[in-house]
Amino acid sequence: MKTLDIRTMMVMSSVLTLLFSGLLALAGLHADNIRGMRQWALASLCFSLSMGLAYTQDSPPGNGWVITCGATLLIVGMSLEFKGIKAFKKEPCNWRMLLLLYLLSGVVFVQNVWFAVIEPDVQARAVANSLAFMVPTVLCARALLIRIESPLRTAYWFTGTAFVIQAMMFISRAGVIFFAPPGTYGLYAQLPVNPTTFFISSLTQLCLTFGFVLMLNYRLATDLQKLASRDALTGALNRRSLEAEAGCITARSTRTGDTLAVMLLDVDHFKLINDNYGHPVGDVVLQRLAALVQDSVRIGDYFARYGGEEFCVLLPSTTEAEAAEMAERLRMAYAAMTLEIGGNVLSSTISIGIADSVRLGLVWPVLVAAADQAMYQAKGEGRNRVVRYSELAG
Ligand code: GH3
Ligand code: MG
Ligand code: MG
Repeated sequence: MKTLDIRTMMVMSSVLTLLFSGLLALAGLHADNIRGMRQWALASLCFSLSMGLAYTQDSPPGNGWVITCGATLLIVGMSLEFKGIKAFKKEPCNWRMLLLLYLLSGVVFVQNVWFAVIEPDVQARAVANSLAFMVPTVLCARALLIRIESPLRTAYWFTGTAFVIQAMMFISRAGVIFFAPPGTYGLYAQLPVNPTTFFISSLTQLCLTFGFVLMLNYRLATDLQKLASRDALTGALNRRSLEAEAGCITARSTRTGDTLAVMLLDVDHFKLINDNYGHPVGDVVLQRLAALVQDSVRIGDYFARYGGEEFCVLLPSTTEAEAAEMAERLRMAYAAMTLEIGGNVLSSTISIGIADSVRLGLVWPVLVAAADQAMYQAKGEGRNRVVRYSELAG
């Protein structure tokens, strides 16, 4: 470590963080709906300028004001990173945290003016700065490592770990410099603490940038997957995703010997609703029904829009009789729902057909066809009812 040249590392860090700043800005350019990238790009720019300023101070003690500027830019950049993480996670920035970060930036400015301009003391300044820099680093790590959205887990862990390493580096640096014999510490002094910390901070900065880009990438991929698998009007799964899920569940249930029930729901006389109140009202009716079903299904059930005004619920580990109970509750809850449009009160009903794998086996198209047959029977019997496939066959 001793042979690592700190000045070369500084130039490299300055240039690299400048490039990272551009990279983060470019990465965020086409992701308007994802917040945080701009703050991270600005943070990187602050780091780059800070390193550049430190580099210009070739011999100790250096220009106190330039050193103060560099240190303040560093803490401002770290605060921006924290705000970026909060914005990315769509979490509100707690005012106490913000106040702490603003105060800390002020403290860093004052302590640097004191230890670099008024009473130059490079050792005290390095210890105080390292301790101050540790605070936003810990806050960033904490913000990343708690309340993790599961599809982004790996990216959060990667970035969060880089912050943890950085925080550990700052505390060790503060400790080592604090216990160094008085007068021996200097930025370019031949002490292993300098090249080691510069080396680690350059590496972690690289990892943080990768981490942020990884988080963006994961978020974009998840959003895209959500868009591709859901129906835009109701938010229910679309038919393609339901069929994919059904493939997995029938395969699993075949292995485990579990039952599977299928429920098909269709709005009664929906065409009349469209004709009488207009298509947009029909859309609201579909959204209301979807919200009701979504609230009624259990975790592990799959709810999808199967066609125009037809919905399908896939219920693993459920028999026809259990599904029929749930369907009956749904039917009654939907019939009791009303929608007010221009003084008129609109209400409608649904017909539901149910089938399960006990009688038909675990073949998805067979199960759906049977539920469909039961649903048409419900229509034939006068609508607003639940019909089980076993009732038809039996
Ligand atoms: P039944 O009781 O026999 O089911 O009669 P119905 O009128 O509900 O059935 P039909 O299949 O004749 O009509 C379904 C209507 O659903 C026709 C179509 O215009 C309408 N529809 C399909 N998708 C949408 C949609 O996304 N929004 C709206 N508003 N209407 C839709
Ligand atoms: Mg209908
Ligand atoms: Mg229909």
